[in-house]
Amino acid sequence: MSHGTRAGGPGTDRPAPAGRHAVVVGGGLAGVTAALALADAGVGVTLLEGRPRLGGLAFSFRRGGLTVDNGQHVYLRCCTAYRWFLDRIGGAALAPLQNRLDVPVLDLARPEGRRLGRLRRDPLPVPLHLGRSLAAYPHLSLADRARVGRAALALKGLDLADPALDDQDFGSWLAAHGQSARAVEALWDLVGVATLNAVADDTSLALAAMVFKTGLLSDPSAADIGWARVPLGELHDRLARQALDAAGVRTEVRTRVASLSPHADGGWSVRIPGETITADTVVLAVPQREAYDLLPAGALDAPERLLGIGTAPILNVHVVYDRPVLTRPFFAALGTPVQWVFDRTDASGLERGQYLAVSQSVAQADIDEPVAVLRERYLPELRRLLPRTRGARVEDFFVTRERTATFAPAPGVGRLRPGARTKAPGLYLAGAWTATGWPATMEGAVRSGVGAADAALGALGRPRPRHLFALEEAA
Ligand SMILES: Cc1cc2nc3c(=O)[nH]c(=O)nc-3n(C[C@H](O)[C@H](O)[C@H](O)COP(=O)(O)OP(=O)(O)OC[C@H]3O[C@@H](n4cnc5c(N)ncnc54)[C@H](O)[C@@H]3O)c2cc1C
Repeated sequence: MSHGTRAGGPGTDRPAPAGRHAVVVGGGLAGVTAALALADAGVGVTLLEGRPRLGGLAFSFRRGGLTVDNGQHVYLRCCTAYRWFLDRIGGAALAPLQNRLDVPVLDLARPEGRRLGRLRRDPLPVPLHLGRSLAAYPHLSLADRARVGRAALALKGLDLADPALDDQDFGSWLAAHGQSARAVEALWDLVGVATLNAVADDTSLALAAMVFKTGLLSDPSAADIGWARVPLGELHDRLARQALDAAGVRTEVRTRVASLSPHADGGWSVRIPGETITADTVVLAVPQREAYDLLPAGALDAPERLLGIGTAPILNVHVVYDRPVLTRPFFAALGTPVQWVFDRTDASGLERGQYLAVSQSVAQADIDEPVAVLRERYLPELRRLLPRTRGARVEDFFVTRERTATFAPAPGVGRLRPGARTKAPGLYLAGAWTATGWPATMEGAVRSGVGAADAALGALGRPRPRHLFALEEAA
């Protein structure tokens, strides 16, 4: 048995841990964040991750000469916690934000052929910042545009603290506020499917209201989009690892935690293959199913609630063409199964041609389809969307499937998501699925890691490092 009181690594200037030691289980964004926050506060930390790399659900792998992300990830300017994380690992410049929200939206369902619209903002106060763009948005009728404006104002008036919102579905609320099926498809679901991984009918009004209020109806710049110009693994694995090392965190990958047990006199034993680590504090930052399996009896009042939190898939279709076929960094689509298309050429290291990632949320219908079927489904759609693909050769076509990409944001899910504190002293929960108020996002994961570290530091009697927890100041 080893006691995990390892002091800060070489080159760190943090205070010595003075005997306090934390084990963080799970090296996704939640766990990495918790480990950094605890280490920055002077606690000795061991981070244990079952897979060979950090980054959890947001990672990269090699395929021949390409570095491929398991799925396209974006964030918004309002994601202050994830932006703090990027800064903390020294990666902000590698995942920059647009100067100003600008989403090209191509519609294929028009009788006159494909038509481009744009969702962009003006330098005006909320909600006027979107007024001009909405007034000119060609994918909605004039009447729909007016009704969208009225629904947005009603949404802005919702009180996110009202627990009743979580019992309602967003689709019914939109219908009750005069939104046509077309408005739902061309606007509400265009944004909602990508951010919530569910259509409006299957989404908790609380989560939808949170996304639309925070992203589109708070600060005019809140919805400016950011994404990694490098592989995700460069940020969430390599740079994260570097930051953890510099903070003195002992990081073990390929190290799956088998069990956790509390000591009678306080403290914890964490069992990994060939070793038992003792700790004063444990942060469990694993998915909800794994958390359920590892939680000791009595740690939550109703642990079976964790199993009630559903999951939803995301699929990415990756296509390498022998020549450039798309001139924009990304676009969204309507009137086709294709949802969002990103140019990943530079990020992947491709030297000739162009590499597009087609990001498909709410992918229940596709997730188990063979590659050949998906090829038949998606290549013709890309030919319709992008005329230049018609003369291009497809050099590579492959698919990445994440069956449990996110928790399902269904009505009622809010009741099932636990907070960071458990009833077991010294044991904390983190993960995008915990009660952050956010949908399953990188932002939610980082917030949960900060929240768990904050709770743990309070119990350890350590002062909270102000800069870590004042996320709103990072906006
Ligand atoms: C394809 C795809 C696209 C997405 N797109 C976006 C997007 O555009 N924007 C956005 O914000 N979010 C997006 N998300 C969601 C985002 O990736 C997740 O919400 C976030 O990464 C979750 O982080 P986490 O740390 O909570 O959990 P996870 O990433 O699941 O991390 C948990 C970690 O725990 C480890 N683990 C489990 N059991 C054990 C054990 N017993 N011992 C040790 N380790 C263990 C796992 O291996 C894993 O690394 C997307 C997700 C996917 C899959």
